[in-house]
Amino acid sequence: MMDRWRDAEEMKWAARHWAARVGVKLGQIQVRNMSQKWASMSTSGRLNLNSELLELPKDVGEFVIVHEVLHLIAPSHGPVFKSFLYAYLPNWPEREKRLREAEASAFGKKNRVI
Ligand SMILES: [Zn+2]
Repeated sequence: MMDRWRDAEEMKWAARHWAARVGVKLGQIQVRNMSQKWASMSTSGRLNLNSELLELPKDVGEFVIVHEVLHLIAPSHGPVFKSFLYAYLPNWPEREKRLREAEASAFGKKNRVI
């Protein structure tokens, strides 16, 4: 059995934890329905997380969280962003692969942005 999130609060707690590790400040965190994205981060540190992440394995959601948190230090998906991802979450490609597989099977053909 894959480990799942207990609830939205646990997922928010994980986001705060990762922000502290990376050394950035998060504003409000919301877990809500999002049709086009798994998550979004504003430049001011407001984080939105798709509530459907609660139905996915915890380590997949953690990848989405780390991805968004890293946008506060690297806004685009270039080489700098990738190097941060490898530094904080070395096995991120495998997690992203499982995120894409989950969205293909469980959520229809939606290819959501992160
Ligand atoms: Zn991104």
